[in-house]
Amino acid sequence: MNEPADSNRGPNRTERRQAVAAGIPIQTPLLSYLQVLDGPSAGELVVFPDQGEIVLGRSPDCQLRLEDPAVSWEHARITLRPTARVCDLGSTNGTSLRGQVCEPELPLCSGDILWVANAIHVRYGVQSEREIELAQKLYQGATRDFLTGLLNRATFFRHLEQEFALWERHGGEFGLLVLDADYFKQVNDSHGHGAGDQLLKELANTLREQCRLEDVVARYGGEEFVVLLRSTQLEGCENFAERMRASVESRTFMPESLQLRATVSIGGTLPLPGDTVGKLIDRADQALYLAKSRGRNRCEFLVEG
Ligand code: GH3
Ligand code: MG
Ligand code: MG
Repeated sequence: MNEPADSNRGPNRTERRQAVAAGIPIQTPLLSYLQVLDGPSAGELVVFPDQGEIVLGRSPDCQLRLEDPAVSWEHARITLRPTARVCDLGSTNGTSLRGQVCEPELPLCSGDILWVANAIHVRYGVQSEREIELAQKLYQGATRDFLTGLLNRATFFRHLEQEFALWERHGGEFGLLVLDADYFKQVNDSHGHGAGDQLLKELANTLREQCRLEDVVARYGGEEFVVLLRSTQLEGCENFAERMRASVESRTFMPESLQLRATVSIGGTLPLPGDTVGKLIDRADQALYLAKSRGRNRCEFLVEG
């Protein structure tokens, strides 16, 4: 039988036996972590910092952000010392563990699954550093674009679908932008594929810098990017798109020697009554097509079906 797991301790007898069988040096440090099990960020794993404390919630300041609206701004605190425990921070929809409501505190064991706001499962665990690194690499590989480090298309869709479902249920506003680097094939043809890759990375950084933490930015494919602007009305979306267009136009890219210039065309839209996610994306694509056909280096919005 396994000995009870505990955080901040060396490996127990069972773990040592398993480690030897797996060829893992037994001095491999054990780390405590939280892993999100549902929603658009399923698989995300956060290791506890030295101070042994993680606050989870919807706030961008939380060490583990959970974007579901049922989750409170600062929802719960998980503390490792003196022993691992979870403390609900007066959240609206509560935290429970093994069927017990956390009022306000419950002790935690490795493998425990927290039920946050009746919406998201989060596992608390203790694992070897090596296994945690592997889980983090797999998560990054599955959700990020390898070249630019932005979210990949599949992950973007999960966020967009969630945002759209919220909009259908509760209203509110958000915007969708599609950006396309103009005449990008010429960059590859004139300066080589390596230069093209570098330009894509720098474009991605420019985009990331312009966005707020709550926005979702992804590489849509090739030389195209997408942005989901949360809690933003048409005017805000138009301002963001124009700021982005102008900041690309006004800077140079790549090493000093190349001083490459680039421009982007941007299509944008907002969700409309009777929409589906498919219709929304098609409309953003049509807006992009309009921006390109009107001469590129432009922003166009379509806000009628
Ligand atoms: P337009 O102004 O109409 O958008 O023209 P464009 O040349 O940007 O668009 P087109 O669709 O003709 O070509 C896109 C180019 O993007 C061709 C493709 O090789 C290049 N591309 C796509 N992905 C990558 C990549 O990861 N790295 C590099 N270097 N190039 C890429
Ligand atoms: Mg394109
Ligand atoms: Mg292009």
